Amino acid sequence: MANTCRTKIGGTLHRYSGMIKCADCGAILIAKWRGKGDDRYVEYTCNSHHRYGKQYCTPHRIHESQLDKCVTDELYRLRDRIKEDSKRYERIVREWQKNKPRFEQRIQQYTQRIDLLQEQIQQILMERITDKAHADMYSEMIKKREGEIKKLQNRISECRRLDEVSSQKSSQLRSTAELLDEILSQPKISDSDLRMLVQKVLVHQNEDKSLDVQFIFNGAFEQSVTKYDDEQV
Ligand SMILES: [Zn+2]
Repeated sequence: MANTCRTKIGGTLHRYSGMIKCADCGAILIAKWRGKGDDRYVEYTCNSHHRYGKQYCTPHRIHESQLDKCVTDELYRLRDRIKEDSKRYERIVREWQKNKPRFEQRIQQYTQRIDLLQEQIQQILMERITDKAHADMYSEMIKKREGEIKKLQNRISECRRLDEVSSQKSSQLRSTAELLDEILSQPKISDSDLRMLVQKVLVHQNEDKSLDVQFIFNGAFEQSVTKYDDEQV
């Protein structure tokens, strides 16, 4: 075991080490140098296959350069998705501003309804005092109205904050897209950028021996692609 550690410190920690796994048996994929001289390349293989043989798992053999190409393609796609989402939020803001009178009208309606419910609650409270035998029934009526008031208050704050929340989201997404643009403008994604972006790489081998590579990005990037809510507008 101590040997393994020393080897790693010695500089054989590969680009995808620790994050790349076999999607079929769950083992890690281990990296090996292959080839000679100028043709040397790093190849990843399922550790179960490597250590225990083909009865345990298929090879899942993939070159590091292939992974680099896959991750770059994925990042372009991710960036485009983020940019699109950012534009959608901008549109929500624009729509909100255009329809502002409508939203204000709606807020007014909600407020009037809340006032009415509060008046009713006052009346019910009075009745509960004079008709103690049915106190439970009155309490139930009050609870129902209080619940409705809370819902209306939430809707009011949603109406008021929709533009604020949407423009915040839009600018967050824009800066994430800019960061990705910067990373993708480099000739090669650096190891540290790769680790910042990618949480996990899963390699699945199909029956025809082709491979499917799935990248799971770190939270901030994965979550940056959020579901937007168009219906509110
Ligand atoms: Zn495997």
